[in-house]
Amino acid sequence: MSGSRRIPFLDLVTPHQELEEELVSVFRNALRTAGFVGGPIVEQFEWEFANFCDAGHCVGVGNGTDALRFALIAAGVQPGNIVVTVPNTFIATTEAISQAGARPDFVDVDERTYSMDARKLQEYIETQCCLDRETGKLLNRRTGSRVTGIVPVHLYGQMADMDPILELAERHNLLVIEDACQAHGASYYSRRENRWKKAGSMGVAAAFSFYPGKNLGACGEAGAVTTNDPKLAGRVRMLRDHGQTQKYSHEIEGYNGRLDAIQAGFLRVKLQQLAEWNKKRRTHACRYGELFESQTDRIILPYESPLNKAVYHLYVVRVKNRDQLQARLAQADITTQIHYPIPLHLQAPYAPLGHKIGDFPVSEKAAAEILSLPMYPQLEQWQQERIVQEVTNSLVVETAGRGKPELKPAALSPEPC
Ligand SMILES: *Cc1c(COP(=O)(O)O)cnc(C)c1O
Repeated sequence: MSGSRRIPFLDLVTPHQELEEELVSVFRNALRTAGFVGGPIVEQFEWEFANFCDAGHCVGVGNGTDALRFALIAAGVQPGNIVVTVPNTFIATTEAISQAGARPDFVDVDERTYSMDARKLQEYIETQCCLDRETGKLLNRRTGSRVTGIVPVHLYGQMADMDPILELAERHNLLVIEDACQAHGASYYSRRENRWKKAGSMGVAAAFSFYPGKNLGACGEAGAVTTNDPKLAGRVRMLRDHGQTQKYSHEIEGYNGRLDAIQAGFLRVKLQQLAEWNKKRRTHACRYGELFESQTDRIILPYESPLNKAVYHLYVVRVKNRDQLQARLAQADITTQIHYPIPLHLQAPYAPLGHKIGDFPVSEKAAAEILSLPMYPQLEQWQQERIVQEVTNSLVVETAGRGKPELKPAALSPEPC
């Protein structure tokens, strides 16, 4: 009876069956009105998603990679600049930086959350950058290029530690563009502002992906930029539509990067479910935590900081014998994945940056030990129980190490060049 025992990594069939009538009627309306690109449905979705993110504006685009690229360009990142991000992310983050004409530089991630370690960012600024004597701008010491942006990635559904990142950005006049492609609806308690802030409302701009497997997914490709800056939103609108402000009046060269109206219609239907779906993901994460309770000397569970409400795009655990565990789960008909097996600084396209093994040890260690277990709103209790049972049976005694965070000396300023 292995068919019924099979536990997929993700269930994209059930939610679409549940919403089939509404989704089909979106399609039918599009056929009847021939409204395929742009129009009121796109605008309605943009308005609703901006509201959902507590952001002033939302601009729908073709996918998450376009969203990142347009956000970077519209925020003012220039060709030749350096934009700092993390090695432990999907390649789209750095592709977008390169496609905006900039160069990615990496800083390592936090051992517990796997997202940007603000102390490493500070260390990067202090040890690898200097201040241009004439302009006071931040330069990379080695290349002399201007460092203009930071892309923190809200990985696995938990927001990066934004307060210290934003503080460093303000001090050094850097643009912060959130990669929120895995964090629709996540929130973070800002101690600076004394309130909860949503993913997509903290940087100068943020990028979202609506790839089908994301917490909010289209039935195809889609993405969006959110921002509180109306001018930046206007520039993204131009960029997505060949740089035009009016038909055939082109202020700049842009791209074909619009959000398709049918996808916007599908997204409106699914957006109504998103809060509920995220709640279910949080409940499942909580249940995994309970079920694994007696195993925590052998498996590291996701760490949700008290400043975060994560939306568990992925449920990522960490074990010493990861490959063996993954193989045994596969034998038991339980599908898992690795996000991501090779850190970006060791991937072929970034060889010219000259990195080697050991440059970002936290990302590298994580890449060798992390495993994403099945996580989706429709996951059932019996499935979680069986997953935890199978995992427990294959765990080795030795704990994967979660080192104590080592404290960095207090803020210094970069020296002049
Ligand atoms: C999915 C994803 C992207 C890219 O989104 P697409 O819609 O596939 O282009 C970018 N960054 C991260 C972290 C992602 O997970």
